[in-house]
Amino acid sequence: MFTTRFAPSPTGRLHKGHAFSALTAWTAARAEGGRFLLRVEDIDPTRCRPEFETGIVEDLTWLGLDWEEPVRRQSDHLPDYASVVQTLRTRGLLYRCFRTRKEILDGIGDAPHGAVEAVRPGPHAPDDEAGMLGEGRAFAWRLSLDRAREALGGARWDRLSFIEEGEGPQGERGLIRALPETAGDVVLARKDAGTAYHLAVTHDDALQGVSHVIRGQDLFEATHIQALIQALMDWPTPVYRHHRLVIGTDGRRFAKRDGAVTLRALRASGLTSEAARAELGF
Ligand code: GLU
Repeated sequence: MFTTRFAPSPTGRLHKGHAFSALTAWTAARAEGGRFLLRVEDIDPTRCRPEFETGIVEDLTWLGLDWEEPVRRQSDHLPDYASVVQTLRTRGLLYRCFRTRKEILDGIGDAPHGAVEAVRPGPHAPDDEAGMLGEGRAFAWRLSLDRAREALGGARWDRLSFIEEGEGPQGERGLIRALPETAGDVVLARKDAGTAYHLAVTHDDALQGVSHVIRGQDLFEATHIQALIQALMDWPTPVYRHHRLVIGTDGRRFAKRDGAVTLRALRASGLTSEAARAELGF
């Protein structure tokens, strides 16, 4: 059955970009007679806050959206993700990484929206690793692309792909060859969270039977590594529909970090949800 989701992280208030994404997914589910899920992706203990989760529900309700209950909150399911980490570890696909942010450009595992150059630090020398473990230092688990390639076999690796029914930022459409190399040895378990975005999102899409991932083009690149994780775990690869990003009057895309006008503020200023929807084309 056609199943899609809106999967925000409660790290701030929703803005028009989120509204566009949620409305796109909800409308598609309605049009297909399918299911629309809301998933709270709150695995980042430093940035997620309960009041932002409450805000998400308020904002989406105001927009006129509804979704299946119960809402899946990722922080309630950390053991699920830990067991995937364990499976991948047992298969020798992960390595410990003790390096700090300062030591390497460590953006990919935790910042799905950031375009970051591929990071492939590789395992530490066994003696160094033993020493750092002995000192009780915190480490992340990274996916080794070399070992993943061996595990899948070259032929399967070369056939990694996903279907794009929307459009990537460069107009990508149709059957897209997945190139996990562009992402590097991503972090699948953060030092502080025991999981990471790519792992939690692919696990949950599989668990919840998501057939269509509808989300912004800023996450198009993430699909390359997500298709690899799906292949490694024998999870189905959903169909992807990446949509254009909503651009503000200054010509830049909305982003929480830029302090874009929030739906909450628009509502307080007297904007009706009908007007908000119409402005976004719904
Ligand atoms: N939680 C991610 C975000 O905040 C979205 C995940 C996804 O749609 O794949 O943007």
